Amino acid sequence: MHPDTRMVHVTAPVPEHSTPLAVPIYQTSSFAFADPELMAGGLHRPDGAYVYSRFANPTVRALETAVADLEGGAAAIAASSGMGAITMLLHSLLGAGDHVIAQHSLYGGTHALLHDLATRRGVTVTRIDGRDPGELRSALTPQTRVLYLETIANPTGHVSDLPALAPVAREAGVLTVVDNTFATPVFCRPIEHGADVVVHSATKFLNGHSDVTGGLAVFADAELHRRTWEYAVEFGATADPFAAWLTLRGLQTLGLRMERHAANVTRVAGWLSGHPAVRSVSWTGPAPAAHVSGYPGAFCFDLAGGYDAGVRLLSRVRLIRAAPSLGGTQSLMLHPASTSHRQLSPAELAEARISPGTVRIAVGIEHPDDLIADLEQALDFAAR
Ligand SMILES: *Cc1c(COP(=O)(O)O)cnc(C)c1O
Repeated sequence: MHPDTRMVHVTAPVPEHSTPLAVPIYQTSSFAFADPELMAGGLHRPDGAYVYSRFANPTVRALETAVADLEGGAAAIAASSGMGAITMLLHSLLGAGDHVIAQHSLYGGTHALLHDLATRRGVTVTRIDGRDPGELRSALTPQTRVLYLETIANPTGHVSDLPALAPVAREAGVLTVVDNTFATPVFCRPIEHGADVVVHSATKFLNGHSDVTGGLAVFADAELHRRTWEYAVEFGATADPFAAWLTLRGLQTLGLRMERHAANVTRVAGWLSGHPAVRSVSWTGPAPAAHVSGYPGAFCFDLAGGYDAGVRLLSRVRLIRAAPSLGGTQSLMLHPASTSHRQLSPAELAEARISPGTVRIAVGIEHPDDLIADLEQALDFAAR
Protein backbone atom coordinates (compact mmCIF):
# COMPACT_ATOMS: atom_id res chain seq x y z
CA MET A 1 0.00 0.00 0.00
CA HIS A 2 1.05 3.60 -0.54
CA PRO A 3 2.19 5.67 2.47
CA ASP A 4 -0.89 7.91 1.94
CA THR A 5 -3.11 4.91 2.63
CA ARG A 6 -1.04 3.54 5.51
CA MET A 7 -1.21 6.97 7.22
CA VAL A 8 -4.98 6.76 7.53
CA HIS A 9 -5.29 3.11 8.59
CA VAL A 10 -3.77 2.83 12.07
CA THR A 11 -5.32 0.74 14.84
CA ALA A 12 -4.48 0.37 18.51
CA PRO A 13 -3.99 -3.10 20.03
CA VAL A 14 -6.79 -4.40 22.24
CA PRO A 15 -5.05 -5.62 25.45
CA GLU A 16 -5.64 -9.34 25.94
CA HIS A 17 -4.03 -10.26 29.24
CA SER A 18 -4.34 -6.95 31.10
CA THR A 19 -6.82 -4.12 31.56
CA PRO A 20 -6.00 -0.41 31.72
CA LEU A 21 -6.27 1.04 35.22
CA ALA A 22 -7.81 4.26 33.96
CA VAL A 23 -10.83 4.26 31.65
CA PRO A 24 -9.52 4.75 28.08
CA ILE A 25 -10.79 7.65 25.98
CA TYR A 26 -12.59 6.23 22.97
CA GLN A 27 -12.28 9.43 20.94
CA THR A 28 -13.96 7.99 17.88
CA SER A 29 -17.18 8.84 16.07
CA SER A 30 -17.73 5.35 14.60
CA PHE A 31 -16.78 1.71 15.04
CA ALA A 32 -15.87 -0.75 12.27
CA PHE A 33 -17.31 -4.27 12.11
CA ALA A 34 -15.70 -7.52 11.06
CA ASP A 35 -19.24 -8.91 10.87
CA PRO A 36 -21.56 -6.18 9.47
CA GLU A 37 -24.63 -8.10 10.67
CA LEU A 38 -23.77 -7.13 14.25
CA MET A 39 -24.09 -3.43 13.37
CA ALA A 40 -27.89 -3.37 13.34
CA GLY A 41 -28.18 -4.26 17.04
CA GLY A 42 -26.32 -1.15 18.21
CA LEU A 43 -28.59 1.10 16.17
CA HIS A 44 -31.77 -0.23 17.77
CA ARG A 45 -31.02 -0.89 21.42
CA PRO A 46 -28.87 0.80 24.06
CA ASP A 47 -27.03 -2.42 25.00
CA GLY A 48 -26.12 -3.48 21.45
CA ALA A 49 -22.70 -3.25 19.79
CA TYR A 50 -20.92 0.12 19.65
CA VAL A 51 -21.62 1.57 16.20
CA TYR A 52 -21.75 5.36 16.26
CA SER A 53 -20.95 7.61 19.25
CA ARG A 54 -24.24 9.53 19.20
CA PHE A 55 -25.89 6.19 20.04
CA ALA A 56 -23.27 4.82 22.45
CA ASN A 57 -19.57 5.15 23.21
CA PRO A 58 -17.55 3.03 25.69
CA THR A 59 -16.08 6.02 27.59
CA VAL A 60 -19.49 7.68 27.84
CA ARG A 61 -20.98 4.33 28.86
CA ALA A 62 -18.44 4.06 31.69
CA LEU A 63 -19.69 7.41 33.04
CA GLU A 64 -23.35 6.43 32.61
CA THR A 65 -22.78 3.13 34.42
CA ALA A 66 -20.82 4.78 37.26
CA VAL A 67 -23.46 7.45 37.94
CA ALA A 68 -26.37 5.00 37.54
CA ASP A 69 -24.66 2.82 40.14
CA LEU A 70 -24.07 5.71 42.57
CA GLU A 71 -27.71 6.82 42.24
CA GLY A 72 -29.07 3.27 42.57
CA GLY A 73 -30.62 3.40 39.08
CA ALA A 74 -30.84 0.78 36.31
CA ALA A 75 -29.13 2.83 33.58
CA ALA A 76 -28.29 6.41 32.59
CA ILE A 77 -27.94 8.67 29.56
CA ALA A 78 -25.08 11.19 29.55
CA ALA A 79 -25.63 14.50 27.75
CA SER A 80 -23.58 17.48 26.60
CA SER A 81 -24.87 19.67 29.49
CA GLY A 82 -27.31 19.59 32.38
CA MET A 83 -29.85 21.45 30.23
CA GLY A 84 -29.17 18.97 27.41
CA ALA A 85 -30.18 16.12 29.74
CA ILE A 86 -33.25 17.93 31.15
CA THR A 87 -34.53 19.17 27.77
CA MET A 88 -34.01 15.76 26.14
CA LEU A 89 -35.86 14.07 29.01
CA LEU A 90 -38.85 16.45 29.23
CA HIS A 91 -39.29 16.57 25.44
CA SER A 92 -39.23 12.79 25.45
CA LEU A 93 -41.78 12.43 28.27
CA LEU A 94 -44.19 15.23 27.33
CA GLY A 95 -46.39 16.07 24.35
CA ALA A 96 -49.18 18.52 23.56
CA GLY A 97 -52.01 18.29 26.12
CA ASP A 98 -49.81 16.84 28.86
CA HIS A 99 -49.52 18.46 32.30
CA VAL A 100 -46.44 18.98 34.50
CA ILE A 101 -46.40 19.84 38.19
CA ALA A 102 -43.15 21.61 39.12
CA GLN A 103 -41.91 23.23 42.29
CA HIS A 104 -41.71 27.07 42.29
CA SER A 105 -38.06 27.27 43.12
CA LEU A 106 -36.03 25.81 40.24
CA TYR A 107 -32.83 26.41 38.28
CA GLY A 108 -33.28 29.35 35.83
CA GLY A 109 -32.72 27.23 32.72
CA THR A 110 -35.40 24.76 33.83
CA HIS A 111 -37.83 27.67 34.39
CA ALA A 112 -37.15 28.83 30.83
CA LEU A 113 -37.65 25.29 29.47
CA LEU A 114 -41.02 24.89 31.28
CA HIS A 115 -42.07 28.30 29.95
CA ASP A 116 -41.15 27.20 26.42
CA LEU A 117 -43.02 23.88 26.82
CA ALA A 118 -46.08 25.85 27.95
CA THR A 119 -46.03 28.62 25.33
CA ARG A 120 -44.87 26.68 22.26
CA ARG A 121 -45.56 22.99 22.80
CA GLY A 122 -49.02 22.82 24.36
CA VAL A 123 -47.90 21.49 27.74
CA THR A 124 -49.60 22.94 30.83
CA VAL A 125 -47.60 23.65 33.99
CA THR A 126 -48.77 24.02 37.61
CA ARG A 127 -46.39 25.32 40.26
CA ILE A 128 -46.32 24.02 43.81
CA ASP A 129 -44.22 24.73 46.89
CA GLY A 130 -43.24 21.05 47.05
CA ARG A 131 -43.56 20.32 50.74
CA ASP A 132 -47.19 19.29 51.13
CA PRO A 133 -48.69 16.06 49.65
CA GLY A 134 -52.16 17.68 49.91
CA GLU A 135 -51.01 20.52 47.65
CA LEU A 136 -49.73 17.96 45.12
CA ARG A 137 -53.00 15.97 45.27
CA SER A 138 -55.07 19.04 44.43
CA ALA A 139 -52.76 19.96 41.52
CA LEU A 140 -53.08 16.52 39.85
CA THR A 141 -55.24 16.19 36.73
CA PRO A 142 -55.91 13.17 34.48
CA GLN A 143 -53.34 14.71 32.06
CA THR A 144 -50.52 14.97 34.63
CA ARG A 145 -47.43 13.07 33.43
CA VAL A 146 -44.51 14.49 35.40
CA LEU A 147 -43.76 15.83 38.88
CA TYR A 148 -40.55 17.89 38.69
CA LEU A 149 -38.49 18.69 41.81
CA GLU A 150 -34.96 19.71 42.82
CA THR A 151 -33.53 17.95 45.90
CA ILE A 152 -32.01 21.25 47.05
CA ALA A 153 -33.19 24.05 44.77
CA ASN A 154 -30.78 26.33 42.91
CA PRO A 155 -30.56 29.16 43.93
CA THR A 156 -32.83 29.31 47.00
CA GLY A 157 -31.76 26.16 48.84
CA HIS A 158 -35.45 25.20 49.13
CA VAL A 159 -35.78 21.46 50.01
CA SER A 160 -38.86 19.69 48.67
CA ASP A 161 -40.38 16.75 50.57
CA LEU A 162 -39.58 14.04 48.02
CA PRO A 163 -40.38 11.06 50.35
CA ALA A 164 -43.88 12.47 50.98
CA LEU A 165 -44.63 13.52 47.38
CA ALA A 166 -43.27 10.60 45.33
CA PRO A 167 -45.83 8.01 46.59
CA VAL A 168 -48.71 10.41 45.75
CA ALA A 169 -47.33 10.83 42.22
CA ARG A 170 -46.77 7.09 41.79
CA GLU A 171 -50.33 6.29 42.87
CA ALA A 172 -51.58 8.67 40.18
CA GLY A 173 -49.31 7.10 37.51
CA VAL A 174 -47.16 10.26 37.38
CA LEU A 175 -43.35 10.06 36.92
CA THR A 176 -41.25 11.88 39.51
CA VAL A 177 -38.15 13.61 38.09
CA VAL A 178 -35.63 15.04 40.56
CA ASP A 179 -32.69 17.34 39.79
CA ASN A 180 -30.03 16.12 42.22
CA THR A 181 -27.24 18.49 41.11
CA PHE A 182 -26.81 20.21 44.50
CA ALA A 183 -27.05 17.19 46.80
CA THR A 184 -25.31 14.61 44.56
CA PRO A 185 -25.65 10.91 45.49
CA VAL A 186 -23.29 11.61 48.41
CA PHE A 187 -26.03 13.48 50.31
CA CYS A 188 -29.24 12.16 48.72
CA ARG A 189 -30.22 9.25 46.49
CA PRO A 190 -33.66 10.28 45.19
CA ILE A 191 -34.47 6.88 43.62
CA GLU A 192 -34.41 5.38 47.14
CA HIS A 193 -37.08 7.94 48.05
CA GLY A 194 -39.38 7.18 45.12
CA ALA A 195 -37.95 9.18 42.18
CA ASP A 196 -38.27 7.61 38.71
CA VAL A 197 -35.62 9.73 37.00
CA VAL A 198 -32.71 11.71 38.50
CA VAL A 199 -31.09 14.46 36.44
CA HIS A 200 -27.73 16.15 36.98
CA SER A 201 -25.69 19.03 35.75
CA ALA A 202 -22.35 17.17 35.78
CA THR A 203 -20.82 20.61 35.13
CA LYS A 204 -21.15 21.18 38.87
CA PHE A 205 -20.14 18.73 41.62
CA LEU A 206 -19.94 15.42 39.69
CA ASN A 207 -17.08 16.69 37.56
CA GLY A 208 -16.16 19.32 40.11
CA HIS A 209 -13.20 21.03 38.41
CA SER A 210 -14.85 23.79 36.29
CA ASP A 211 -13.48 22.29 33.07
CA VAL A 212 -16.50 20.44 31.61
CA THR A 213 -20.14 21.04 30.72
CA GLY A 214 -22.09 17.83 31.02
CA GLY A 215 -25.34 16.30 32.24
CA LEU A 216 -26.98 12.98 33.02
CA ALA A 217 -30.40 11.42 33.34
CA VAL A 218 -30.51 8.29 35.53
CA PHE A 219 -33.49 5.92 35.29
CA ALA A 220 -34.84 3.68 38.02
CA ASP A 221 -36.46 1.52 35.35
CA ALA A 222 -34.54 -0.09 32.46
CA GLU A 223 -37.56 0.04 30.12
CA LEU A 224 -38.03 3.82 30.59
CA HIS A 225 -34.28 4.18 29.95
CA ARG A 226 -34.58 2.24 26.70
CA ARG A 227 -37.52 4.33 25.44
CA THR A 228 -35.81 7.60 26.38
CA TRP A 229 -32.54 6.44 24.74
CA GLU A 230 -34.40 6.13 21.43
CA TYR A 231 -35.40 9.78 21.72
CA ALA A 232 -31.96 10.87 23.01
CA VAL A 233 -30.41 9.46 19.84
CA GLU A 234 -32.75 11.70 17.79
CA PHE A 235 -32.27 14.71 20.06
CA GLY A 236 -28.50 14.41 19.70
CA ALA A 237 -27.28 16.27 22.81
CA THR A 238 -24.93 13.35 23.48
CA ALA A 239 -21.89 13.60 25.76
CA ASP A 240 -18.48 13.82 24.10
CA PRO A 241 -16.03 11.03 25.08
CA PHE A 242 -13.39 13.45 26.36
CA ALA A 243 -15.91 15.37 28.49
CA ALA A 244 -17.14 12.02 29.85
CA TRP A 245 -13.54 11.02 30.61
CA LEU A 246 -12.85 14.26 32.50
CA THR A 247 -16.08 13.76 34.44
CA LEU A 248 -15.07 10.21 35.37
CA ARG A 249 -11.76 11.56 36.60
CA GLY A 250 -13.51 14.20 38.71
CA LEU A 251 -16.00 11.63 40.01
CA GLN A 252 -13.21 9.67 41.73
CA THR A 253 -12.92 12.38 44.41
CA LEU A 254 -16.64 13.24 44.69
CA GLY A 255 -16.91 11.80 48.21
CA LEU A 256 -13.85 13.69 49.48
CA ARG A 257 -14.84 16.94 47.80
CA MET A 258 -18.45 16.87 49.03
CA GLU A 259 -17.30 16.36 52.61
CA ARG A 260 -15.00 19.37 52.31
CA HIS A 261 -17.59 21.54 50.51
CA ALA A 262 -20.15 20.85 53.24
CA ALA A 263 -17.66 21.49 56.07
CA ASN A 264 -16.53 24.75 54.40
CA VAL A 265 -20.13 25.92 53.90
CA THR A 266 -20.78 25.33 57.60
CA ARG A 267 -17.70 27.35 58.60
CA VAL A 268 -18.20 30.21 56.12
CA ALA A 269 -21.97 30.56 56.57
CA GLY A 270 -21.58 30.46 60.35
CA TRP A 271 -18.91 33.16 60.24
CA LEU A 272 -20.93 35.35 57.85
CA SER A 273 -24.05 35.19 60.03
CA GLY A 274 -22.08 36.77 62.90
CA HIS A 275 -20.66 39.63 60.79
CA PRO A 276 -22.14 43.14 61.36
CA ALA A 277 -22.17 43.98 57.61
CA VAL A 278 -24.33 40.90 56.90
CA ARG A 279 -28.08 41.21 57.50
CA SER A 280 -29.04 37.57 56.89
CA VAL A 281 -27.74 34.26 55.55
CA SER A 282 -30.01 31.86 53.59
CA TRP A 283 -28.17 28.74 54.79
CA THR A 284 -30.39 26.73 57.13
CA GLY A 285 -27.96 24.22 58.62
CA PRO A 286 -25.69 21.30 57.79
CA ALA A 287 -28.44 18.68 57.34
CA PRO A 288 -31.36 20.19 55.37
CA ALA A 289 -33.85 17.27 55.75
CA ALA A 290 -34.14 13.64 56.89
CA HIS A 291 -33.51 12.49 53.29
CA VAL A 292 -30.71 15.06 52.56
CA SER A 293 -27.72 14.55 54.83
CA GLY A 294 -25.56 17.52 53.80
CA TYR A 295 -25.57 21.03 52.30
CA PRO A 296 -22.61 21.52 49.93
CA GLY A 297 -24.04 24.05 47.51
CA ALA A 298 -24.21 27.74 46.97
CA PHE A 299 -26.05 29.95 49.44
CA CYS A 300 -27.01 33.61 49.59
CA PHE A 301 -26.38 36.35 52.11
CA ASP A 302 -27.77 39.89 52.31
CA LEU A 303 -25.52 42.87 52.88
CA ALA A 304 -26.78 45.63 55.18
CA GLY A 305 -25.17 48.14 52.77
CA GLY A 306 -27.48 47.10 49.88
CA TYR A 307 -26.64 47.36 46.15
CA ASP A 308 -23.46 49.47 46.49
CA ALA A 309 -22.02 47.16 49.15
CA GLY A 310 -22.65 44.19 46.82
CA VAL A 311 -20.80 45.84 43.92
CA ARG A 312 -17.92 46.86 46.23
CA LEU A 313 -17.65 43.38 47.79
CA LEU A 314 -17.40 41.72 44.36
CA SER A 315 -14.72 44.20 43.26
CA ARG A 316 -12.63 43.47 46.35
CA VAL A 317 -12.60 39.67 46.81
CA ARG A 318 -9.24 38.24 45.69
CA LEU A 319 -9.17 34.50 46.40
CA ILE A 320 -12.91 34.14 45.80
CA ARG A 321 -13.53 34.74 42.08
CA ALA A 322 -16.45 36.67 40.58
CA ALA A 323 -18.01 34.01 38.33
CA PRO A 324 -21.26 32.09 37.77
CA SER A 325 -21.63 28.35 38.43
CA LEU A 326 -20.78 26.26 41.48
CA GLY A 327 -19.51 22.84 42.48
CA GLY A 328 -15.88 23.33 41.43
CA THR A 329 -12.81 23.30 43.65
CA GLN A 330 -12.61 27.13 43.61
CA SER A 331 -14.92 29.44 45.55
CA LEU A 332 -17.06 31.69 43.34
CA MET A 333 -19.25 34.71 44.05
CA LEU A 334 -22.05 36.52 42.23
CA HIS A 335 -24.00 39.73 42.87
CA PRO A 336 -27.30 38.98 41.09
CA ALA A 337 -28.74 42.54 41.22
CA SER A 338 -25.84 43.97 39.16
CA THR A 339 -25.25 40.93 36.88
CA SER A 340 -27.53 37.93 36.27
CA HIS A 341 -30.71 39.77 37.40
CA ARG A 342 -29.75 43.28 36.21
CA GLN A 343 -32.79 43.67 33.93
CA LEU A 344 -35.31 43.00 36.71
CA SER A 345 -37.32 45.81 38.34
CA PRO A 346 -37.23 46.12 42.16
CA ALA A 347 -40.65 44.39 42.28
CA GLU A 348 -39.45 41.52 40.08
CA LEU A 349 -36.30 41.19 42.18
CA ALA A 350 -38.45 40.91 45.30
CA GLU A 351 -40.56 38.19 43.64
CA ALA A 352 -37.37 36.23 42.86
CA ARG A 353 -36.46 36.67 46.54
CA ILE A 354 -33.36 38.68 45.63
CA SER A 355 -32.67 41.98 47.34
CA PRO A 356 -30.24 44.64 45.99
CA GLY A 357 -27.68 43.54 48.58
CA THR A 358 -27.99 39.78 47.98
CA VAL A 359 -24.71 38.01 47.22
CA ARG A 360 -24.42 34.36 46.21
CA ILE A 361 -21.38 32.34 47.19
CA ALA A 362 -20.39 28.85 46.01
CA VAL A 363 -17.85 27.62 48.53
CA GLY A 364 -14.95 25.59 47.10
CA ILE A 365 -12.53 23.21 48.80
CA GLU A 366 -9.84 25.74 49.79
CA HIS A 367 -8.78 26.03 53.45
CA PRO A 368 -11.70 27.77 55.22
CA ASP A 369 -9.40 30.18 57.11
CA ASP A 370 -8.20 31.62 53.80
CA LEU A 371 -11.78 32.04 52.56
CA ILE A 372 -12.79 33.80 55.78
CA ALA A 373 -9.72 36.09 55.62
CA ASP A 374 -10.64 37.07 52.05
CA LEU A 375 -14.27 37.71 53.02
CA GLU A 376 -13.18 39.73 56.05
CA GLN A 377 -11.01 42.17 54.11
CA ALA A 378 -13.60 42.48 51.31
CA LEU A 379 -16.51 43.04 53.74
CA ASP A 380 -14.49 45.71 55.59
CA PHE A 381 -13.91 47.49 52.29
CA ALA A 382 -17.56 47.10 51.18
CA ALA A 383 -18.90 48.53 54.44
CA ARG A 384 -16.61 51.59 54.35
C1 LIG B 1 -26.33 24.37 36.44
C2 LIG B 1 -27.59 23.65 36.70
C3 LIG B 1 -28.34 23.09 35.64
C4 LIG B 1 -27.93 23.24 34.19
O1 LIG B 1 -26.75 22.58 33.92
P1 LIG B 1 -25.76 22.98 32.72
O2 LIG B 1 -24.70 21.95 32.79
O3 LIG B 1 -25.30 24.38 32.97
O4 LIG B 1 -26.56 22.90 31.45
C5 LIG B 1 -29.48 22.38 35.96
N1 LIG B 1 -29.90 22.25 37.23
C6 LIG B 1 -29.22 22.79 38.26
C7 LIG B 1 -29.74 22.62 39.65
C8 LIG B 1 -28.05 23.51 38.04
O5 LIG B 1 -27.38 24.05 39.08
